[in-house]
Amino acid sequence: MLILGIETSCDETAAAVVRSGREILSDVVASQIAVHSPYGGVVPELASRKHVEAILPVIREALDRAGCCAGDLDAVAVTQGPGLVGALLVGLSAAKGLAYALDKPLLAVNHLEGHMEAAFLDKERPEEPFICLVVSGGHTSLYLVTPDGSSRCVGSTRDDAAGEAYDKVAKLLGLGYPGGVIIDRLARRGNPAAFDFPRSRLEKGSLDFSFSGIKTAVAYFVKRYGPPVPEGKGETPYRLEDLAASFQEAVVDVLVEKTLEAAERYRVRHVATAGGVAANSRLRERLEEECAYRRLQLHVPSIRHCTDNAVMIAAAAYRLWLREGFTPDPLDLDAVSRML
Ligand code: ATP
Ligand code: MG
Ligand code: FE
Repeated sequence: MLILGIETSCDETAAAVVRSGREILSDVVASQIAVHSPYGGVVPELASRKHVEAILPVIREALDRAGCCAGDLDAVAVTQGPGLVGALLVGLSAAKGLAYALDKPLLAVNHLEGHMEAAFLDKERPEEPFICLVVSGGHTSLYLVTPDGSSRCVGSTRDDAAGEAYDKVAKLLGLGYPGGVIIDRLARRGNPAAFDFPRSRLEKGSLDFSFSGIKTAVAYFVKRYGPPVPEGKGETPYRLEDLAASFQEAVVDVLVEKTLEAAERYRVRHVATAGGVAANSRLRERLEEECAYRRLQLHVPSIRHCTDNAVMIAAAAYRLWLREGFTPDPLDLDAVSRML
């Protein structure tokens, strides 16, 4: 079954053709980083406009690279939400138009279920139940995926998402956008024990997260010791690499601890992680170590498929299609900015 996936929930215009949820025939992502970078974050109105410009060329490129034409497709899958509503509408309208014109089923996908699917793209999906840490720019949640294939949120952030904390701290330090990958790179040359940033664990037994405190702690740090000075342009009383590594260690500590706690509480043997922050080298390293020690099997997406892409949308749609008895979604479907 050949599915075209379309993803426009935030600042990536993406389209992909995937056969039977596994075989990736094409994977096109047009990033808007350059557009939003001067603002240090995504500007929703600009994102919608850029999606409008990019959507048709991106879909065409996905079909071309897959070596197929629109008529070969069996279904059109699209992100319905969560995300920026104006951005979602662009992908959704394109998908509806295509599905209608081709008289093929429209399949709506939850962006977060798409992220989760990325952990199993190139390997067998484990037997449920398993725990999945979805950690991205807008979400930080733990899901218990049960044998009926549904997922239940067992913990989530009460304020900022982990990716948001990375992006805000990077902005504060004048490092650019998106901040996660920049901090990750700097942190590799830093000492994670240089500064002791707070680990917010909340009440005992809680699987929720909170990342606004650490962002404030970094802001106070900079207020006290001064902003980082570019290399060769003077001295600061600290190394930027140490600050990045110490911030990252505090975030990763909590993410890993709560994921392991959830695995233990729900007695699962498999743990997965997904979303943009799952690309983080330290998070991957720590999860690998801790899961190996506890004999838990860990599933992580390839780095490319951690951040937004359309392969994960096509793959999630295929599984949904099998699970829900081959029912297409109606063409009057609306975009939904918030969904669990
Ligand atoms: P959501 O999926 O919650 O709707 P989103 O789609 O904007 O949000 P993603 O594309 O999944 O989020 O992820 C982007 C986030 O991942 C950004 O916050 C970015 O800083 C972060 N990120 C990307 N790479 C890394 C990395 N190597 N280390 C840490 N964070 C990273
Ligand atoms: Mg993005
Ligand atoms: Fe995302």
